Amino acid sequence: MGIKFCKPSSIWAKCREWASCHLVELGHIFFPPSCAACGEDISLTSEAVKTRPDYKAPLCEACVLTFTDLRPRCDRCGLPKYSGSICNFCQKITDQLGVTEILWQQIFVLGSYEDCLRTAVIAGKRPSGEALVEALSKLLLNQRPSIQELKVDAVIPVPMHWRKRWVRGTNSANIMAKQIASSLKVPYRCSIRCKRLKRPQKLLSAKMRATNMADKFYVRGNQLTGKRVLVVDDVATTGATLSAITHCLLEIGATVVYAAVLARTDDVTNHVGKR
Ligand SMILES: [Zn+2]
Ligand SMILES: [Zn+2]
Repeated sequence: MGIKFCKPSSIWAKCREWASCHLVELGHIFFPPSCAACGEDISLTSEAVKTRPDYKAPLCEACVLTFTDLRPRCDRCGLPKYSGSICNFCQKITDQLGVTEILWQQIFVLGSYEDCLRTAVIAGKRPSGEALVEALSKLLLNQRPSIQELKVDAVIPVPMHWRKRWVRGTNSANIMAKQIASSLKVPYRCSIRCKRLKRPQKLLSAKMRATNMADKFYVRGNQLTGKRVLVVDDVATTGATLSAITHCLLEIGATVVYAAVLARTDDVTNHVGKR
């Protein structure tokens, strides 16, 4: 009977795993893990929450319930709907034109851009809110229908002009894209670039937003040609930014484009088809 010896590298890996696990536990005694949204101590989280697939998100039970929007949404525009797979506005456009103006295949939305989720998304725009954006991205991944079933080849963030990013110190879309790409085990790409800094979208009407976005972006390289791409951003209002990026990606030969956002303004006057 032979004695099995572990390779030194595997012994070292096991030691490192044991040490990191116990150091984390020791650290929790002095610095209890807190909710990324409200700061509540989450070391005493109930077993019911611990068994949920999104438990790893550093959020307390109350915040997970607050941010999880279970209202059915339109696959095309992301607005709440009452029946069918698409909303009345999208159906009207499809019936009248035979086609829909929305270029992406499907949009995934965590919830409405209001109340607690709005506060959390705004907090996530600061460098101190990166853990919160990661936690919200994990919740978005675990929403139904699931992004995990799309079989995308790459995840890309909506880019931010370097000057704006320099002032803000972070870009929530980048944090989201990295988190989602790592969970899906697909590459994170920064292939979309801003040509120039445009006027802030929030100051413009729905029609002006589309014009403001025209020719704003370009795709660098051909890594996304023939690929299934997921574009992510923190907020969608009219969808003008996501539409402009989807247009660029389809132009360079991306097979299909999906969109995912943490929050969507549920005002029908902002519908993409109403531009
Ligand atoms: Zn909380
Ligand atoms: Zn719709």
